[in-house]
Amino acid sequence: MATHPARAQSVPRCAAVVGAGPAGLYALAALLKGDAFDHIDVFEAAPAPYGLVRYGVAPDHPKTRNISRVLARGLEHDQVRFLGNVTVGEDISIDDLRSAYDVVVVSTGMLGDRSLNIPGEDLSGSLGASELVAWYTGHPEAKPIELPADLRTATVIGAGNVALDVARILTKHPSSLRPTSMPRHVVDALEANTLTDVHIVARRGPAQVKFTSPELHEIGDLDDIDLVVDPADLVLSPDDERTIAEDRRTRVLVELFREWSERPLRGAPRRIHLHFWRRPTAITGTQRVRGIELVRTRDDGAPPLSLPTELVIRAIGYRGREVPGLPFDPDTGTIPSSDGRVIADGEVMPGVYVTGWLRRGPTGVIATNRSDANEVAASVLADLDSLPPRTGPHTDLSELLASREIRAISWDDWLRLEAHEKAEGQAHGADPIVVHDLKTVLEVIARGDE
Ligand code: NAP
Repeated sequence: MATHPARAQSVPRCAAVVGAGPAGLYALAALLKGDAFDHIDVFEAAPAPYGLVRYGVAPDHPKTRNISRVLARGLEHDQVRFLGNVTVGEDISIDDLRSAYDVVVVSTGMLGDRSLNIPGEDLSGSLGASELVAWYTGHPEAKPIELPADLRTATVIGAGNVALDVARILTKHPSSLRPTSMPRHVVDALEANTLTDVHIVARRGPAQVKFTSPELHEIGDLDDIDLVVDPADLVLSPDDERTIAEDRRTRVLVELFREWSERPLRGAPRRIHLHFWRRPTAITGTQRVRGIELVRTRDDGAPPLSLPTELVIRAIGYRGREVPGLPFDPDTGTIPSSDGRVIADGEVMPGVYVTGWLRRGPTGVIATNRSDANEVAASVLADLDSLPPRTGPHTDLSELLASREIRAISWDDWLRLEAHEKAEGQAHGADPIVVHDLKTVLEVIARGDE
């Protein structure tokens, strides 16, 4: 590509990454490797880095959460600055960023839940999985959740790994949650919960689930849980038989369901039921959830099912939140793009890129974001010489933030918070315990300033 005329003289180049989750931090690493920028600022709405690694990966999966150590490397780099507690689109606009940086890479991920669009979805006790996950991981913006005092039965809609996380966290013995990073008020609430049954509802069959094998095996290995699977649900079509003959992953999952359907019940205090070929048509109750109506999705004569339930959790996929100043496709919940270049009204927005779930939708494991980020960084580096010059000088936006009374959280601030969380964890014989409210975060950081 031709060098833009206004780029002829050598000027320091700078980039902004918006979102310090795995997508943004893999993009940061790829941009640093390209060695094309003098300075990169990383903006993050939460007070802490790592996005879904901190506020999504279940607290009882500490090995996965430890990916944060790898992700931290970019943020520790001399040419990189972390600005937490700054929401782009609210505290600072995309235009502010475009005028101050040559390149803006947006990676704010997926923050909300898809809807079922059925009656009763708004009743108290009907939640999106992201709300429950935000609560049990200690996200500062999580709505406080009060589990119903008479909770006996929870129903989780969806057959993906988020559904397994939710079912596992709700049923797991609280003694195994105490040593985790979970905020203590959440462990206390889970310890007090009176749940006996969790129903996981899949709208398709055992050969179409999105679960992955280690996560499913983990459910089968839980202490004090009986698993309930109806063998009639496991009758496969010729197409499904072909799928499991050809696809090892599906074969392993179906064999596991078969083994569960044959396991004798041990009279465990809690049960996880797996239902296939069922979809909800209504959540019932007047003010709060009392039940759910499930119809059969294949024609095998099985009757509809009315389940009494006090809690319904939709684990049917996350959706992105619109970033003011950027295009958004409401159908997919993503930002339209081509090779990571943001497309607005059919035209490339020069210097603006998107990566991660907000680019490709909510699929794949954490490492999928690395290949995604490498592709986007390749687009950035290919475009650099032909980009129009940024509209303003590289002003230090931390001054602009201070003038708007936004307390940006620096990397050193985060290290203080991290040290505090480690100390709290040690005091409780647990992993570092996440500080879940912004007020305490700011107090901890301020104490460190003394
Ligand atoms: P997912 O894997 O896409 O699963 C969503 C599930 O919801 C599917 O079973 C889907 O069924 C179902 N669904 C969608 N719309 C529905 C509707 N209207 N009614 C009923 N069911 C509906 O999504 P996820 O569980 O949110 O996970 C997102 C990504 O994060 C995945 O890549 C996942 O593997 C990853 N993740 C990984 C871990 C881990 O590795 N431990 C933990 C959590 C998440 P259909 O297939 O029929 O559409």
